[in-house]
Amino acid sequence: MAIQTLNPATEEVEKVFDALSDDAVDKALDRALHGQSQLADLGVEKRASLLAEAAKVLDANKLAYGRIMTTEMGKPLKQAIAEVEKCAWACRYYAEHGPRFMRDERFEVDGMTAYVRHLALGPILAVMPWNFPLWQVFRFAAPSMIGGNPGLLKHASNVPQSALVIEDVLREAGFPEGAFQTLLIGSGKVEAILRDRRVRGATVTGSNPAGSAVAKVCGEMIKPTVLELGGSDAYIVQPSADLDNAVTQLVLGRTQNNGQSCIAAKRFLIHDDIYDTFREKLAAKFAALTIGDPMEEATDIGPLAQKQGLSDIVKQVEESLKAGAARVVGAEAVEGPNGGKGYWFAPGLIEAIPQGSPAYEEEIFGPVGLMFRTTSLNHALALANANNFGLGSAIFTTDKGDIETAVEKLEAGATAVNRIVASNPHLPFGGVKESGYGRELSRDGLMAFVNRKTVTVS
Ligand code: NDP
Repeated sequence: MAIQTLNPATEEVEKVFDALSDDAVDKALDRALHGQSQLADLGVEKRASLLAEAAKVLDANKLAYGRIMTTEMGKPLKQAIAEVEKCAWACRYYAEHGPRFMRDERFEVDGMTAYVRHLALGPILAVMPWNFPLWQVFRFAAPSMIGGNPGLLKHASNVPQSALVIEDVLREAGFPEGAFQTLLIGSGKVEAILRDRRVRGATVTGSNPAGSAVAKVCGEMIKPTVLELGGSDAYIVQPSADLDNAVTQLVLGRTQNNGQSCIAAKRFLIHDDIYDTFREKLAAKFAALTIGDPMEEATDIGPLAQKQGLSDIVKQVEESLKAGAARVVGAEAVEGPNGGKGYWFAPGLIEAIPQGSPAYEEEIFGPVGLMFRTTSLNHALALANANNFGLGSAIFTTDKGDIETAVEKLEAGATAVNRIVASNPHLPFGGVKESGYGRELSRDGLMAFVNRKTVTVS
C-alpha cells in the first residue's frame, strides 16, 4: 500500500512519501535507545512538564491539525478539531497524574520492607489505524512518555501527514531526539521490527488480522502486547428508556467519525413494545443527516476513508439484503458533492437481519445501524453476547434491576448506561473476546508497559 495522502472526498493524491529504508529503520531503533536514556535522565516530573507543553502545542494548532486529518481520512472538520482537543486532554491528564502513578508502592511484609519501583521497559512499537489519526496515537504516546518508553509509530499508510504531525508536536514540546519517532513504513516491515531485540513491546489498534499478526510475532519473541481491535457494540433499548435520549445517543454513536469507530453503536437491540415508534424516530434522524464536504460546518457525514472500505460495506449490506434483511433508510453508496468523485455512503438502517448474513456476523465499519427486535432483556443480552467481539455495550433503561443485570451479563470491556460508549483519559479502555486484551488510558494504560520491579530489603 502506497504511503500517501489520498483525499477521500476528491480522490486526489495530495502527497506521496517514500518508505524508510531498512538502514533508516535500523538507525531509528538506535535513536530510540538513546531516547530512552535521555527520558530516564529527565525524570518523571520533567517528562510530565513536557507533556503539558505538548498539550499547549496541540491546542494552539488544532485547526491546522484538524484539517490534515480531515483531508487524509474524511471526518468532519469539527470532529477532527475536537479530536485534537481530546489529545491535549490526555496529555494534561498524564502530566497531572503520571508522576503519582509512577511513584514507588511501599509494603511492610513479614517484618521486611518492600517496594515496587516503576521502570521503563524500552522502545514500544505502536501499530495504529487511520480512523482517529491523532487520538489513537496520543492515548498510547502520553503514558509511554511518562513511563519513559520511547515510542515508535507505524501509522496506517493513508495518514502519513497526521503521523508526522505527532512527532512534530512532541519534538516542539521539548522531548529529546529518539523519544518518539514516526516510521513511514508499510505493514510488511513490522515483523522485522518486532523481532529486533531493541524493541520491547507492541500495541495495536486496528483490525483483527493486524492484531493477530503482531501478537503472533510478539508471542514468539516473549514481548508484551496490548490489542485494541474491532467491535460490534450492542445498544439495548428497553421500554422504560427515555426514547428521545436513546434516539439521539444511537444516532451519534453510529454516525460520528462517519461511522468508522471501533466503539460505534453498531447493533440496536430494541424491545418489541417500543420497536415501531423507535424505528420511526430513528429513521427520521438518519434521513435528516447532512452528507457533504467534511470541511463544512454543517456537514454531519463526510466520505468514508478508503475505496476498499466503501466497497466492503456496500457488499456487506447487499449480501445481507439478499439473505433476507430489509432496508429501513439509506445504507447505500451515493454520488456525493464532487461529481462522482469520493467515497460517499449514505448513513442508514437495516432490520430483520438473518443469522449467517454479514450484518449479523461481521463488524460493519461505516454508518449502518443494525436493528433487532427483542422480546425481553434476557433475549437482548443473548443477542448482544452472540458475537465474537466484546468491546463496548450500552443499555437504555430507567430500571435499576435492568442496569445491574446488563452490567453483570454483557460480555464487553465497557457498558454505558443511557449514553454512548466513549473513551476518557481517566478511565481504562479496552475489550474482551476478539476485541483484544489489555487496557489503555488511566493508570492501567501506563502500567501496561512498565517494569513493576519488586525490591525487598532486609
Ligand atoms: P488495518 O488493521 O489493516 O490497519 C491498521 C494498522 O495495522 C495499519 O497501520 C496497518 O498498516 C497495520 N497492519 C495491517 N496489517 C498488518 C499486519 N499484517 N502486520 C502488521 N501491521 C499491519 O485496518 P484497515 O485500515 O485495513 O481497516 C480494516 C478493518 O479494520 C476495518 O473494517 C475495521 O474492522 C478494523 N479497524 C478497526 C479499528 C479500530 O479502531 N479498532 C480502526 C481501523 C480499522 P497499513 O496501513 O500500512 O496496511
